[in-house]
Amino acid sequence: MFRRIFRKEYAKVVFSSEYIYGLASIGKYETFDIMRFKKIRDQLVADKLIKRKKILRPEPCTTDDLRLVHTEKYIKQIQDPQYAARLLRLTNNSLFDNSVLEFYKAVTGGTLMASAYTLKWNIPVFNLGGGYHHAHADRAEGFCLVNDTAVAIEKIRSLGKGRKFMIIDLDYHQGNGNLLYFKDDKEVYTFSMHADTWVEIEREYNKDILLPSGCSDEHYLSILEEELNSACWEFKPDMVFFIAGSDTYEKDTLGDMKISREGMLKRNLFVYRKVRAKNIPLVIEAGGGYGPDSWEVYYDFIAHSLRHKN
Ligand SMILES: [Zn+2]
Repeated sequence: MFRRIFRKEYAKVVFSSEYIYGLASIGKYETFDIMRFKKIRDQLVADKLIKRKKILRPEPCTTDDLRLVHTEKYIKQIQDPQYAARLLRLTNNSLFDNSVLEFYKAVTGGTLMASAYTLKWNIPVFNLGGGYHHAHADRAEGFCLVNDTAVAIEKIRSLGKGRKFMIIDLDYHQGNGNLLYFKDDKEVYTFSMHADTWVEIEREYNKDILLPSGCSDEHYLSILEEELNSACWEFKPDMVFFIAGSDTYEKDTLGDMKISREGMLKRNLFVYRKVRAKNIPLVIEAGGGYGPDSWEVYYDFIAHSLRHKN
């Protein structure tokens, strides 16, 4: 007789080699570093925080999934490899193989899988990608072709698995795609704290907080604590999507914030613990993050969540 010891899993990770494969054949991508997610996966495995076989591997989403949010005309447009490549300002892409769209379908499949898993088991799930919050129903914006969060919300609704959702978006940039898509939807709360405003809309279930440039750890965290307050939680979402963009990190090559590595972890854990304390299913999406060091931030967050209950 022997007893098998199962270590409790506090969080799950979703990743697929198609996240890399999708764009790997294309020569030059300047701001769109998809390799950071492989780096995170490799480091989590090297540090023995997760076994490869425990990583959830998603199937790409289907074109019907895209139809839940995106218009037929736009879906036709992005099926053209040249059109899709232009949206990402890519050159040297194939005329015949739409790897750009394949990439977005793979990662959106990951957000769908993460959502289904957290709703079933109520374990937080990290997608190593996703959070394409600038995409609109009928057009791309800011390197976002497919709005994976909106697709996941519509899919959950279509399956009758959830009704009310909250999107907490702490990427450096405003979640304008989500704000516009859900502007008349009383069952989605959009919360975005950002350094630049892309669109201004007044709606009941929205908080848009514009941050001062060069924000420090203390300043940022005090604003977050004040704004993500108990009044927000009266909304009582069935599920939360957290877009944990790391472009607010001081080493980010695009953003101008001064948040330290420790400050970024504090920020992420503040949201994580708030949601978990309320026992709400949670999906975390990577959002933006640029330059060679941006992967560290999401890595720290996932590593902590795999080791600790909260
Ligand atoms: Zn961003």
